[in-house]
Amino acid sequence: MSDTERQIILSKLNQIVDPRSGRGLVDAGLVQGLVASRGRAGFMLEVAPADVPLYEAVRGEAESMLAALPGVERAQVVLTASAEPSLAPGNIRVRKGATLSPQAVSQNAPSRPTGAMKPAHVRHVLAVASGKGGVGKSAVSVNLACALARLGLKVGLLDADVYGPSIPRMLGLTDEPVVGAGGKLQPISVFGIKAMSIGLMVDEAAPMIWRGPMASSALNQMLNDVAWGSEAEPLDVLVIDMPPGTGDIQLTLAQKVAVSGAVVVSTPQAVALIDVRRGISMFEKTHVPILGVVENMAYFTDPSTGAAIEIFGRGGARETAETLGAPFLGEVPIDIALRQACDDGKPFVIDQADSPAGRAFMDIAVAVAAGLEAGADERPAPTMRIVD
Ligand code: ADP
Repeated sequence: MSDTERQIILSKLNQIVDPRSGRGLVDAGLVQGLVASRGRAGFMLEVAPADVPLYEAVRGEAESMLAALPGVERAQVVLTASAEPSLAPGNIRVRKGATLSPQAVSQNAPSRPTGAMKPAHVRHVLAVASGKGGVGKSAVSVNLACALARLGLKVGLLDADVYGPSIPRMLGLTDEPVVGAGGKLQPISVFGIKAMSIGLMVDEAAPMIWRGPMASSALNQMLNDVAWGSEAEPLDVLVIDMPPGTGDIQLTLAQKVAVSGAVVVSTPQAVALIDVRRGISMFEKTHVPILGVVENMAYFTDPSTGAAIEIFGRGGARETAETLGAPFLGEVPIDIALRQACDDGKPFVIDQADSPAGRAFMDIAVAVAAGLEAGADERPAPTMRIVD
């Protein structure tokens, strides 16, 4: 977007009146992270939690205004609610209503408030987490979701990895999500599951606006403004591919969403396992049940001899799970076909459920489904909107 185009958009947006201050939206500081490229235009409208209903109309007006601009095929204004936390020493205020200090948030808010909720028409929310990037968390999320669907469950997959969303690639998704009749975003139906990725909603050139505390708000919207299930067809499980680590997104989830259980993925070597301990401990502190630990890339089978080569060591995740009192769900071998399937956009378990890695995913899915049922919470899912 050129400077001139940007100025034109901003001046148009400033003609919309902020109902609180009576000033233009831009002058009131409400337009955050403006993006306009490749036929898409959008920004974040960040307001106080109590003001969310008041600003729904403003969001609609701003979206219509953007949609009417020449060359704009899709406009999206994301309404986010962010509390105004008092600044702790060392925190940096980066924009109105947001501070950069996930650590401070984690120290201040270790427990799950009693008001934690589920998205509407979703029976179970399952978090797939890892302490570290690159251990195969997304590969496990995709294959676990499809394996659960093969077991006959209605499954959704939400890619919340704001730092590197890979689900669109792994499922071959290219279409942008559309808004359905009920005003909610429609998840994309593919390989027997419903999928939605933060990567489909944001221009890759502008990922920064979703990071940190803002990302928590975006996640709330992904959970609540997407038509995951309906009265007639509720989802059994919504699998969430979390970003690696123990930052804001994980905390938002653990504290505000009634996560039924978490699966932690690790490779066998020590460096990944230290992070697993942190991940498990975060879920424990926030009272999210750990359904178990998956050891990914546990071994590689030498094609000429059939011998198992333990490239990253083997058994470390099992030992850590045992030490920490968490169930061990199984080990997934390194399989070139699995890597290839991820790159080709077709989940491995669709065609290769009978291979050792495929069987591992199916067994893990059975254990996860049992773990979810064991802790099943049959209270009706509320339809309230969750805000920061
Ligand atoms: P993460 O989500 O933890 O960052 P990914 O799921 O994106 O990790 O996996 C990282 C890379 O490793 C991807 O290219 C993926 O295809 C590959 N991969 C993951 N698990 C396996 C496995 N068991 N065998 C072979 N390749 C794997």
